[in-house]
Amino acid sequence: MRQLDKLWNYQQADKKVADFETEIRQFPLRQQLLKLRNIVADQQTVVRGMENDANKALERLEELGAQRDKAAQTFAEIQQSLQEDSFENAAQVRKVISQMNEAVTKLKAAEKELSKMIAHSQMIENRYKEVRLKAAKARDEYTRLKVTYDKEFEKQTVRLEELKKERAAIGSDVDPAYMERYRNVREQRFPVMATLNNDQCSGCNMSLPSAIAKQIAGSDEVVECENCGRILYMP
Ligand SMILES: [Zn+2]
Repeated sequence: MRQLDKLWNYQQADKKVADFETEIRQFPLRQQLLKLRNIVADQQTVVRGMENDANKALERLEELGAQRDKAAQTFAEIQQSLQEDSFENAAQVRKVISQMNEAVTKLKAAEKELSKMIAHSQMIENRYKEVRLKAAKARDEYTRLKVTYDKEFEKQTVRLEELKKERAAIGSDVDPAYMERYRNVREQRFPVMATLNNDQCSGCNMSLPSAIAKQIAGSDEVVECENCGRILYMP
């Protein structure tokens, strides 16, 4: 058996490994898990943003509460002074009434914004619960799928190791110099070897001088395609 035939067999085993690695990467359950992981991460960001907004709203609520209390206190003070009847003229009374009206306006404004915020916060809270529920569901789904995936991955790893062993066994029978040529091309392109059919490289479909077929037929000489660099092979 020529070294090139052995190398060709090695490439078949190498291809099986590469194909299986692709299969593992494209495994639907893996894709699904990656998608779920992104959903969980996105929802965590949303939840954090909502918590941030909620904290800001709480601060504003406290501010408004203080404003309302202050306006109510001013109002009570003015009312008290009115009852004490300590005014000397109508101008003073008018001034005090205008202050009272101002306090009432502030009080009403603070109360209006407060009730608006309370209604809004109810909505936010519902939305928050909804998002957290969704996040929890995605997390559960992820955990559930992960168990199945891990089992599957274990099997895949075992199979991949088998294929790699097969490849190594075939490779150990190939002359190291040939193997080195193979590896050099392998870094650039795969498959490394291409058959020569009717003076055409099957790797890149380029037509090559007919002298090449004569050169490599039955020979163990390594000839690379002048266009794509693959090692040309004639069975
Ligand atoms: Zn080529």
